[in-house]
Amino acid sequence: MFDKVLVANRGEIAVRVMAAAEELGCETVAVYSDADRNGGHVDYADEAYNVGPAPASESYLDQEEIIDVAQRAGADAIHPGYGFLAENAEFASKVEETDGITWVGPPSDAMETLGEKTKARTVMQDAGVPVVPGTTEPVDDAAEVRALGEEFGYPIAIKAEGGGGGRGMKIVRSEAEVDDALESAKREGEAYFGNDSVYVEKYLEAPKHIEVQVLADQHGNVRHLGERDCSLQRRHQKVIEEAPSPALDDDLRAEIGEAARQGVREAGYTNAGTVEFLVEDSVASETQREGGGETAGPEFYFMEVNTRIQVEHTVSEEVTGIDIVRWQLRVAAGEELAFAQDDVEIEGHAVEYRINAENPATDFTPTPGQLTTYRPPTSIGVRLDHAVAQGDEIGGDYDSMIGKLIVSGEDRAHCLERSKRALEHFDVTGVHTTIPFHRLMLDDETFVAGDHTTKYLDRELEDDA
Ligand code: ADP
Repeated sequence: MFDKVLVANRGEIAVRVMAAAEELGCETVAVYSDADRNGGHVDYADEAYNVGPAPASESYLDQEEIIDVAQRAGADAIHPGYGFLAENAEFASKVEETDGITWVGPPSDAMETLGEKTKARTVMQDAGVPVVPGTTEPVDDAAEVRALGEEFGYPIAIKAEGGGGGRGMKIVRSEAEVDDALESAKREGEAYFGNDSVYVEKYLEAPKHIEVQVLADQHGNVRHLGERDCSLQRRHQKVIEEAPSPALDDDLRAEIGEAARQGVREAGYTNAGTVEFLVEDSVASETQREGGGETAGPEFYFMEVNTRIQVEHTVSEEVTGIDIVRWQLRVAAGEELAFAQDDVEIEGHAVEYRINAENPATDFTPTPGQLTTYRPPTSIGVRLDHAVAQGDEIGGDYDSMIGKLIVSGEDRAHCLERSKRALEHFDVTGVHTTIPFHRLMLDDETFVAGDHTTKYLDRELEDDA
């Protein structure tokens, strides 16, 4: 095991990683920007180093500085958390090339392959995994896009190669919209991801977002920890996540889990990762329904791989009892996964609520400020991943997350009941939060029934995103 782990991140995920490292007997090193001098993750760490001014590009994204700090501190591993440098293959490869320091993540070449969506689609197809109908090569001109629109039928999505979180994705509903959409997808891809390459996918109208958590070691063992359902989204951003999915039966669960395992095996992947799918009733089943026949049931289509720990990993931990971050460190240190696929059992139900400093009443605008009251709920079935305390300032420099409330129960209904209590006893003043919104969702029939798709919330909120 490592002696000293540097966490190249801030906030709740930095603390989460340090907690796992500590349990494994490692010392912990935090890095922080000028804006985070009093950050919870700085308090938590054994040592902390300033890496620059508030803008992330000058601190948390400063690759050379972070590696330099790791060397000065005598760290023998770097964990990137999520966001910032977590999916940066160039940074991963620099760490790999640094003597005496191990990258806690997948090999940089697997990150590079899977980070480009068309390459990832090719890998999955080669592994026999169904992918969302679309291209496996970047697309250049409008005529090509129109031909694909003909082939797949509108709507289609033009997506940036490097995209994520709905950024760099443009929905095209007719031939007439192709030119503008192509141009803006390219522009967003360049602006957000430094890559103006785009490709085309069939746009599914009412899918569920189902993602499979995988863990792979350096000895050829690949396990999946079941799925998470992240279908409750606002403008393609996840709002509430849960495990297991209310939409899958055991057969589909096993099938999708196996597909994810095959896919990451094909990519030469190690460490933790997430294989994302869209699940929708197949086109065939729609036709059958019109003809009065039986529905063919839901089909799954590969969408992308996230080569990092995800915000919502917690719900998988709660229902499997497996500490994913601890395994990230153990696998990176060369250990073998100590459990077989059959040992992974899904028990009970868990839901994660993102508690953000945002005002749901004004279109979820961020509301930075001081936490004049911060009294989170406690008791059985309640987990909080956060790095704040009463009196702390929620700044405007980074994301607006205050923390994550994760509630577990014997089954989904029990979990949602418990969630009501937990959210009712979550007292925050000084900033607006997403807590009232989550409480509304717990009274929403469609969500409570588990019938929501990724489009549900936008329609309810009458967004035309
Ligand atoms: P990420 O999962 O990293 O946020 P994307 O930007 O690819 O990456 O996707 C974000 C969300 O956009 C998905 O969860 C889904 O709701 C929606 N989406 C992406 N591709 C499609 C598609 N082809 N059809 C329908 N919805 C899609």
